Amino acid sequence: MPDPDPGPCDLVIAPEVVGICGTDLHLAVGDYPTGRFPVVPGHEFAGTVVSVGSAVAGFAVGDRVCVDPNVSCGVCEQCRVGAVNLCPDLVPIGVSVDGACAELVRVPAKVTYHLPDGLDFATGALIEPLACVLHAASRVRPMKDQRVLVYGAGSIGLLAVTYATAQGARSVGVVEPSAVRRGAAVEFGADAVHAPGERSGRHDVDLVIEASGHPSAVADALDRLAKRGTLLQMGVVSPEVAIDLFAYDLFDRELSLVGSQSLANAYPDAVEAVARLPRLAERMVTHTFGLEEYGAALEAARSDTARKVHLLPQQ
Ligand SMILES: [Zn+2]
Ligand SMILES: [Zn+2]
Repeated sequence: MPDPDPGPCDLVIAPEVVGICGTDLHLAVGDYPTGRFPVVPGHEFAGTVVSVGSAVAGFAVGDRVCVDPNVSCGVCEQCRVGAVNLCPDLVPIGVSVDGACAELVRVPAKVTYHLPDGLDFATGALIEPLACVLHAASRVRPMKDQRVLVYGAGSIGLLAVTYATAQGARSVGVVEPSAVRRGAAVEFGADAVHAPGERSGRHDVDLVIEASGHPSAVADALDRLAKRGTLLQMGVVSPEVAIDLFAYDLFDRELSLVGSQSLANAYPDAVEAVARLPRLAERMVTHTFGLEEYGAALEAARSDTARKVHLLPQQ
């Protein structure tokens, strides 16, 4: 592909580290609703500025940067109230325009942030998924002293566990079918881990973080919620699948059902917050691949030994 030139308000970045997530697995098989095909994937990334658009201020060639991949219109009703993730004209980099799994990527300067000093590129590429967790957390009460139960110990589930622990949750449990991933959850600070169907308690959880996207997990989660409990739905459930819901439970226990999609305007907070989660990349990144090994990287990302798979486009 030809090297991109920056438009007046753009930067061209040489991505150093690009994370692979579930979105990329869907894109690769062509079943992502907002995907444009063909597209260069890669939306979780950090790298080095190699050229700067004529109207850009505040960035120079050689700057170490990370990028919020969601470019919103900035003027619609959702954008005006900060719900930029719900912008009808949202342009996600690496989904509907070419992303960072390439030697070079063009991005608008307005979604680019300087990597804090001392933060490596691998950690920089974790800012995007962490921002998804921060946005989800902003949708519910603070987690301090709450009994939290996380469904799914993929990369988002693990970040949710480490975040809830750091926030001072009273307990953090995890429900996850894979024994390997349950082990990872313990390493990330979970107090208790369970295979699906093996957790006995009912009505004893204040906050469920649903990060598996499995409809049976959602149904199970509702039965765990204590009075005034909240189900936070951040896993992507199939739009084709319904679950049973007894509206009486909402009334009787005053339950809350809350959705969270992508990262809204949480990216700048995540740039700050990532430094407060020590050794995150070391604990999180299980596999790295070169640019030409994308197929193998996707394969690895599908395995349950993968926490986060990183692609290194400059190697
Ligand atoms: Zn992602
Ligand atoms: Zn908008």
